[in-house]
Amino acid sequence: MTKSVLVLNSGSSSLKYALYNLDKSAKCLLRGVVEGIGTPKSLIFHKNAQDGCNVKLEGINVSNHRIGLNKVWELLHVDRGSSSNICAVGHRVAHGGEALTKPALVTDSVKKAIEEAVPLAPLHNPANLEGIKAAEELIKCPQVAVFDTSFHSTLPPYAYMYALPLTLYKELGLRRYGFHGTSYQFVLDESASLLRKSKDSLNFIICHLGAGASMAAIREGKCIDTTMGVTPLEGLVMATRSGDVDPGVFQILASEKGLSTQEISRLLNKESGLYGLCGDKDMRVVWDAAKAGSEKHKLAVDIFVHRIRKYLGAYLVHLKGKVDALVFTAGIGENSVPIRSMVCQGLDAFGISLDEKKNNQDAKEKREIQSADSKIKVLVVPTDEELCIAQQTLQVLRI
Ligand code: ADP
Repeated sequence: MTKSVLVLNSGSSSLKYALYNLDKSAKCLLRGVVEGIGTPKSLIFHKNAQDGCNVKLEGINVSNHRIGLNKVWELLHVDRGSSSNICAVGHRVAHGGEALTKPALVTDSVKKAIEEAVPLAPLHNPANLEGIKAAEELIKCPQVAVFDTSFHSTLPPYAYMYALPLTLYKELGLRRYGFHGTSYQFVLDESASLLRKSKDSLNFIICHLGAGASMAAIREGKCIDTTMGVTPLEGLVMATRSGDVDPGVFQILASEKGLSTQEISRLLNKESGLYGLCGDKDMRVVWDAAKAGSEKHKLAVDIFVHRIRKYLGAYLVHLKGKVDALVFTAGIGENSVPIRSMVCQGLDAFGISLDEKKNNQDAKEKREIQSADSKIKVLVVPTDEELCIAQQTLQVLRI
């Protein structure tokens, strides 16, 4: 049986996993998720990608990631003995701080650096670390950490610094880092292969529009600006995150509503964005309601698109108009015909023009959707963060 690499993505209350073949085909063998970790109603969805066989375990008690991983391990064992072929584990880690700018073999010093970045990612890094420790105990093979931030380590200082007292950067590492790095890496490689050119010769503006949303400007294969900041809260409007707001909002919420810092953080991360504006967070639902005439849903869509176009303008300027392609990826970017259409509306003067017939095509593969006279290509490129983590894990281990 061929060897495989296990990818683990340990969130605050979930554990996503996927198993990939080690050979060139990089086939996904199975994937699944443990949800509701730490609650009495945990459940596991497990899907064998080969035979389509699904398993759903409900009403189990998974009080922490260690127990969750043990359950996953049992499922992998039952599923055609998959556990015995794993030769590496790749972990998604949200924040590498300034120390970890490349995927790294997990060692004590790497774990220490992930721990040190906890103040910058209090919602994510502790869970990532717990997943790493649980996997180290259970699965005796090399473990690799792949960071969401590392793709953006090429940002120039004028793009990553906040105009705050310089001492705060030095003391706390308070600067912009950017996220969705594994997705950008994957989509960049895929886009370059679609255009049949080396990525080092290409400039892109990539829109990763999912529940979490961000954009990146890429010059000659390297990221020069991105919308997320020290945390994933900055930038675009997202499913439940506000994106950019005037920091003065904090003081007003504290003094007028008596909210604590924790409550304000919750409001900005979980109760804002599309959800805060219209009560729905799934773009499909938001769009349908807008089309049916709901004003608040229409406004939510308009704000979402307006923010994307604001950064699109900025990134066109950063790249001095020399852009090979505008790329759409992730749940909304890959699937929403009208959002792509609205983002590109009326940009002929900037060299961006869609072929609406191509935009409307119901396809799953990477493709071009610009019109024949568009100077800048417009691409739809499906992302696969887990596959990218598997590939990067193998690169670190030189397998
Ligand atoms: P994440 O990985 O950040 O959870 P995804 O990239 O999986 O997000 O995107 C999920 C989101 O994509 C959903 O919340 C939904 O808003 C959006 N989405 C998925 N399919 C469509 C579609 N056909 N049209 C519009 N939006 C879609």
